[in-house]
Amino acid sequence: LKNVTKVYKMGNELIYALKNINLKIKEGEFVSIMGPSGSGKSTLLNIIGCLDRPTEGEVYIDKIKTNDLDDDELTKIRRDKIGFVFQQFNLIPLLTALENVELPLIFKYKNSMSEAERKRRALECLKMAELDEKFANHKPNQLSGGQQQRVAIARAIVNDPKIILADEPTGALDSKTGRKIMELLKKLNGYGKTIVVVTHDINVSKYGDRIIYIKDGSIEREENVS
Ligand code: ATP
Ligand code: MG
Repeated sequence: LKNVTKVYKMGNELIYALKNINLKIKEGEFVSIMGPSGSGKSTLLNIIGCLDRPTEGEVYIDKIKTNDLDDDELTKIRRDKIGFVFQQFNLIPLLTALENVELPLIFKYKNSMSEAERKRRALECLKMAELDEKFANHKPNQLSGGQQQRVAIARAIVNDPKIILADEPTGALDSKTGRKIMELLKKLNGYGKTIVVVTHDINVSKYGDRIIYIKDGSIEREENVS
């Protein structure tokens, strides 16, 4: 990110959610973003993830300058390169675990991937996310929070993205389950995925190689984790 600013307009009021952010995240890095509520963490993650555009400044993903892309091109970058994980899991309640994981494959491949191949790939990702196969046909409300987050992580990796962005992935989980989810993200980092985790929790942040502290929309300081 180069000189990234994000301004929200609420009636006559301007909210400076991000102020002149310069940030370089290397391929294969595991970065944690910490900061108080309202400091701009989710806004930052959404801009890194091409879910939102900056008001000013430049965003590069994998050396591609995303500012110049139209919305369809931006969506394609997002689908190909980025997987998202959220605090509230954001699974589709009417679909089973397996069907939730299949969904990005349907968006990406339409009918060019057979149903059998799609199910095989989705099951493989559930396995990678360490969810027991016996839960594959459960709906989200038939799963624990930790199990739902495993489904969400399987969904995030199903299109084999280089980057995984997680906004408070342990925020709705007890600390033991949270640690297991962080260990899973660490394992995926070991497979070469670049990981960015937003968290309030200092213990969660220590899974990263580097912690970035943001305050009032600016990077306050950084710290390498030894
Ligand atoms: P939390 O830890 O509570 O999740 P955060 O650090 O993720 O907070 P953001 O959600 O990025 O904070 O919000 C940063 C600022 O931008 C806040 O003042 C928030 O009210 C404002 N903001 C965020 N999204 C919008 C929006 N869509 N429209 C207007 N203001 C917004
Ligand atoms: Mg947030």
